[in-house]
Amino acid sequence: MIKKYALITALIILNINASYAQDVYERNESADVLNYIFNLTLNDDNNEIIGESLIKVNFKNKVKNFSLDLIGKSGDYGMEVTGVYEDNNNARYEYSDDKILITPAANGPNIKTFKIQYRGVAQKGLVIDTTKFGQRSFFGDNWPNLARHWLPCVDHPYDKATVEFRIIAPDHYDVVATGKKIEESNLGQDLKLTIYEEPAPVAMKVVTIGVTKFATKLLGTVGEIPVTAWVYPENRLDGFSDYGVAVNVLNYFIENIGPYSYAKLANMQAKTQWGGLENAGTIAYFENSVTGKNTVEPLIAHEIAHQWFGNSATENSWNHVWLSEGFATYFTILYQEEVYGNEKRKEELSKDRKEVINYYKKNPSPIVDNSIKDPMKVLSPNTYQKGGWVLNMLRHKLGDKIFWEGIRLYYQTYKDSNAMTEDFRMILEKVSDEDLNDFFKQWIFTKGFPELKWNWKYNKGKVIINVDQIQNHHTFKFPLEIGLITGKQIKMETVIVDEKFEIFEIAVDTKPQDVIFDPELWLLFEVKE
Ligand SMILES: [Zn+2]
Repeated sequence: MIKKYALITALIILNINASYAQDVYERNESADVLNYIFNLTLNDDNNEIIGESLIKVNFKNKVKNFSLDLIGKSGDYGMEVTGVYEDNNNARYEYSDDKILITPAANGPNIKTFKIQYRGVAQKGLVIDTTKFGQRSFFGDNWPNLARHWLPCVDHPYDKATVEFRIIAPDHYDVVATGKKIEESNLGQDLKLTIYEEPAPVAMKVVTIGVTKFATKLLGTVGEIPVTAWVYPENRLDGFSDYGVAVNVLNYFIENIGPYSYAKLANMQAKTQWGGLENAGTIAYFENSVTGKNTVEPLIAHEIAHQWFGNSATENSWNHVWLSEGFATYFTILYQEEVYGNEKRKEELSKDRKEVINYYKKNPSPIVDNSIKDPMKVLSPNTYQKGGWVLNMLRHKLGDKIFWEGIRLYYQTYKDSNAMTEDFRMILEKVSDEDLNDFFKQWIFTKGFPELKWNWKYNKGKVIINVDQIQNHHTFKFPLEIGLITGKQIKMETVIVDEKFEIFEIAVDTKPQDVIFDPELWLLFEVKE
């Protein structure tokens, strides 16, 4: 019994080189940001912001220095740093190459608070513009690494922290931000202070603010979690109607995956470069998502699914972003399957399969592709649709009960934390007692999918099926469901394909009218003529 464990240990060690490889962000594992307080002053005369950030850092080991990302001034854009303090004393720092490099005092407690004062115009990350109705607006739009344009921070999801926004803005605006609203005060001189505090740690890619004129409504409450809509006043009733489904979606994911991490769930109509951006507890949907015809249910389900996968259980490296996007893609399908039935699952997976196949023709690369260095480039049909397909295949391989047990344990283990693909695999191995190394290797770390050339014939009480995997870079191993059709009956047989060329014989009573592969859509493959 010891032998098997010895073997598994050896495989894990080998894998660390292959798949624990991290992206290129320079990490400082000795300095852990615990909390950010972002004071921001916004105005109507120009797009300059004035910021003062309080950043609480736990130094786990002695460090010479540590750095925060903040894009420096260049031309009309970027930030000027006007002061850096450590516990209210002037701190030693240098500001160059978009990094504030701070040398903390050698003595004192391990937990220190730094104050950064700065001002400037953000080129990205904080979008100051007008809404489609001509109303001035300010929206955070950070994903993946644009927070550094307006907030001094460790701008990588490996270091998550609790955040508080204290926003001073002209008092005619409505202000929403990551977290729970804890204060709204008139300061006089037509200014208003609004404070939001999020007690769960969040990654900078998904913190946000929204400041404009809003119509706001409580759509419902799930457990303790208020679900609200923040839409443009011109879209008030249509927006409340379109975003109403968020209550059902939140309820479905809480019941099936586990507790929701954040203080609230606001659904915000916004100016964003994305169709939707899953900001923790304050989701941004594109302006035209409001139609009054309930056309965005899948988008809403996708962004809400991210609250578990991507936001709470967060990929530790940009190259493992399928743990966010592949999961959001498949959990949208699971939600749709629950509401609309199994045919809807098949319809969605069939569309996704086409996208995976088309993308592969131009970009033959694996889901985890460590050759990608720029986080803007990690989004593709590989990380979304193929990632979703992998979860669908895993579900079929493990069965619904073990699959969901694995999902729940993975979430419970990495909630408010970070994970890599190997962490997910090990959780599934634990609940299933199966070695899933080959499965993950071929579907996540190997490019492509089986490209099958096949035919069948009937001969003396047998259906004889020839299956040829014509892709030559890798021979896939997979279970294949074969449907034998006679009249209105379909008889299912499962065979294991693990060679480049194989012949299967299935005994039958009569010659079937037709033979089809994978009628229930459990296998990602392409039929080649
Ligand atoms: Zn997504």
